[in-house]
Amino acid sequence: MKDDYPTGEDLYDFEYGMKNSPHVVLLGAGASCAAIPNGDKYGKKISAMSGFIDKLGLSDVLEDISLKTTSDNLEEIYMELDERSSTEPDCMSAKTELENRIRNYMLEFELPDTPTIYDFLLMSLTSKDIIATFNWDPLLVQAISRAYEYTDNLPTIAFLHGNVAVGFCEKDNVMGNAGYPCRCGEILKPTQLLFPIKKKDYASDTAIAKSWKSLKNALKAAYMVTIFGYSAPKSDAEAISMLKEAWGDLKDRDLEEIEIIDLRPEDEVVASWEEFIHTHHYKYSNSFFESSLGRFPRRTCEANFDMFMNNGFMDGGNGFKEGMGFSDIDRLTYELIAEESEKKGTRKILSHPYKARHDKR
Ligand SMILES: [Zn+2]
Repeated sequence: MKDDYPTGEDLYDFEYGMKNSPHVVLLGAGASCAAIPNGDKYGKKISAMSGFIDKLGLSDVLEDISLKTTSDNLEEIYMELDERSSTEPDCMSAKTELENRIRNYMLEFELPDTPTIYDFLLMSLTSKDIIATFNWDPLLVQAISRAYEYTDNLPTIAFLHGNVAVGFCEKDNVMGNAGYPCRCGEILKPTQLLFPIKKKDYASDTAIAKSWKSLKNALKAAYMVTIFGYSAPKSDAEAISMLKEAWGDLKDRDLEEIEIIDLRPEDEVVASWEEFIHTHHYKYSNSFFESSLGRFPRRTCEANFDMFMNNGFMDGGNGFKEGMGFSDIDRLTYELIAEESEKKGTRKILSHPYKARHDKR
């Protein structure tokens, strides 16, 4: 313990501050796959980047183009088309066609009627937290409307590469469902999608620039960071460096908790995040339900603080379990939500039901 560890009033302020710091969740393609492991409402599965063109029946778009890359990965193919498009009109039109077909393919996804990982995820965080997603599909956006039926104390959502379901009104600075009217009466225009090229222009689209700003601010103040199904691909080099910059110097960050949820083997995942978690403790799991989000919903920072700073034992038995229905989620969260509204605007620390039974200190 540090010599300057706070005591008394200061200690309360310190605890309150930590527990009210943001929990930042970063989502990659693996999270959308985990949200609909058996396909969407109509059985349609999310395709991985490799084999994407074939699985989506997009091969005809590339029929007349002889690609240099032998890869079947969408990112590699798109990057080549983009590089060649300035001099080869064929590549330009193929690129545009590919973009349109991908947008339409993504738009069709619909959440199944039963709770998905995205429903659990949204209900596990509150308005001080942020979910930043690289995914274009509309599943998380659809889950937001479902979560609103239970509470409006929900996390901020940042769409780092744009999203097919999100619209934006530049004049009013309003983000919402694409196609819905803004308060000014105009229709919310679809946001741009950032396709996989190395030098993405993150400033070209106001909605995307705004999303990055929210993420950077949250990262600076974060107590917990969860990286869920994001493999940090080469085409995201610029995104990764922006994240690193916002995350700051590791030496200055000895209190934060990092969690990684991924289906891939631990060493492979850790390698791609080495600079974030180097000399830093992190927790790895391959299921959402084993993470703090699943075990300590709506109180992730509280439970982690009590575990690491107050040396308490936590029990995730009162958390979310796979296969739960919406009524189960409601039953587990309604008292927590009630306490949140009751203590809103006060400096009272929220309680939680996650202390182990033999450790009711
Ligand atoms: Zn407007």
